[in-house]
Amino acid sequence: MLLFIVKWILAFGIIITIIQHFITPVYSLEEGKPFSGNSFYNPYQHSGTNWLKMNLHAHAKAWGGLTNGMKQSKEEIIQEYTKLHYDIIGVSNYHDPQAIYFKGKPDSLTVYEYGYNLFKAHRLVIGYQKAKFREVSLFHNIQDRQYILNEVYPDCKVLVIAHPQFGKGHEMNDFSKLSNYHLIEVLNHYRYSEGEWDLALTHGKPVFIIGNDDMHDLQKPGEVGVRFTMVDGKEDLNHTLDELKTGNAYAVADPDRSCDLKLSSCKTDGTTMNVEFNDTADKVVFISNDGIVKDSVMHSNHASHTFQADESYVRTIAYSKNCKLYLNPVFRIADGILPKNEQSLKINWLATVGEKLALILAMMLVVWILIKTPVRFK
Ligand SMILES: [Zn+2]
Repeated sequence: MLLFIVKWILAFGIIITIIQHFITPVYSLEEGKPFSGNSFYNPYQHSGTNWLKMNLHAHAKAWGGLTNGMKQSKEEIIQEYTKLHYDIIGVSNYHDPQAIYFKGKPDSLTVYEYGYNLFKAHRLVIGYQKAKFREVSLFHNIQDRQYILNEVYPDCKVLVIAHPQFGKGHEMNDFSKLSNYHLIEVLNHYRYSEGEWDLALTHGKPVFIIGNDDMHDLQKPGEVGVRFTMVDGKEDLNHTLDELKTGNAYAVADPDRSCDLKLSSCKTDGTTMNVEFNDTADKVVFISNDGIVKDSVMHSNHASHTFQADESYVRTIAYSKNCKLYLNPVFRIADGILPKNEQSLKINWLATVGEKLALILAMMLVVWILIKTPVRFK
């Protein structure tokens, strides 16, 4: 009987996977080219002083308790993060858009987590009321992952690739090619994904940072209030989220919930960038192409770095005893215009048809094996 059940579950899984693969085309995906140009884009050039604390990744009970997060309700999450002085709070249940709270009030903009696949290729879909369900749950490749991004990118306000390091949901090389998303969740209580971010930046992808708890259990130490984003606040949530897309935000790793270090300013003067903090940082480092540390300054509340010819972007991390601040990059641009990580991708029809034919053959093979090797229910 066990063999009977295993056999049919396996067959069902394979057939669902094959059907899911039918929906995705094969794109002509190419590696991006490094940022270039004679001027620099500084995401903090217009920063104000109204920095807001934000977490948009937390799970409440949903889908009848089927998903991880069943111990707390949405209301309990909002209450707890309000107590911790968060200004923007999101409950990101899987495929279940929930209102984001902005300064204590629910907004019309929503957030949900997109993805039900074995290896945790997840996205945070912000500002899209509709839950979409298309997915490739097993054996997904970069083409499938690009397809899912394309599914929601045109309609949502902000699209985030969540925790790329976690669960092998993405391959490192994805990030030199993937487009049609805005942010990478570099900080998450499960994983840090700096390598993926540096690869995207090295390949000229103007994608910015977000830090989130990805909280699944409100009572568990180390899951609540430990990774967050500080964003330059505007009059409403809609305009504040725009600031995330221009990089006017930074992420904080604060494991003890005791971080006092804050960004005061980041200015550019010719080829030199100057960063300043509200207090003395133990160390400030400047990181450039391929994630290589190019400069560091010890025990200071300010630091400078001058771009070298081979540096297309430079990002900053400030360390204090209790926490780390991850700033968005300053990078080279042409004509003073911020490029978008957006592309209308060409479909490689020959490869697409070839892949679908192979899938039809695979499906026929599964059915043939099922018929030829019956295991009877006893
Ligand atoms: Zn996730």
